[in-house]
Amino acid sequence: MIVTIDGPSGVGKSTVTKALAARLGFECLDTGATYRAVALAMLRRGIALHDHLAIETALTSVRLEMPPGRVLLDGTDVSADIRAPHVSQGASKVAVVAAVRRFLVGVQRAAATGRNMVCEGRDQGTVVFPDAACKFFLVADARVRAERRAAELAAKGRVVSVEDVLADQEERDRRDAERDLAPMKPAADAVIVDTTYLTTDQVIATLEQAVRSCPTDRT
Ligand code: C5P
Repeated sequence: MIVTIDGPSGVGKSTVTKALAARLGFECLDTGATYRAVALAMLRRGIALHDHLAIETALTSVRLEMPPGRVLLDGTDVSADIRAPHVSQGASKVAVVAAVRRFLVGVQRAAATGRNMVCEGRDQGTVVFPDAACKFFLVADARVRAERRAAELAAKGRVVSVEDVLADQEERDRRDAERDLAPMKPAADAVIVDTTYLTTDQVIATLEQAVRSCPTDRT
């Protein structure tokens, strides 16, 4: 059974995905990490992220593996490196390239098909798993998302202003929502959950309840 969780950056998808998967006894798939890994691969190869032809050509040499909770690029663990801010921006730039999306949709379907998995991203319910049993689209006020993210970074010892986080977030969300291919949007049959005034535990409980009452005769 596949559960999809889509939504904009900073809405809390990763935390909710991991906790929901743990409660259900499912695995989880962080598809953003796959776009981040491709961006890092291109940056390391010295390829300009606006050069779509060069990206398509270089893609054939990219080796991506996703053991549980980790991302290996060309055989090396890049789980921490892919979280750098320039890689976040890079991910949303390579995410507009058709060849990249084709490649990663294949990787994502191969990782999840036939398993019990919670898959998070931007297009999981619309494009990658259109027949998923249960789909969610999380939303939250942009400033609240930025405040949460800035607090998270501060807890890790990185002081970034809410304004800077907000600017970065808005740029990425705009690129993700306005692209031609697989734009970020809720699937017609997704449950939209506004997390602005909910605690993380409330969001997880809402989703868990919805999954447990969802028909199990689908993917
Ligand atoms: O979720 P995360 O912030 O790690 O995603 C990084 C970027 O990867 C997003 O901004 C988006 O451009 C891209 N992405 C995507 N489709 C997905 C997951 C992520 O286009 N399913």
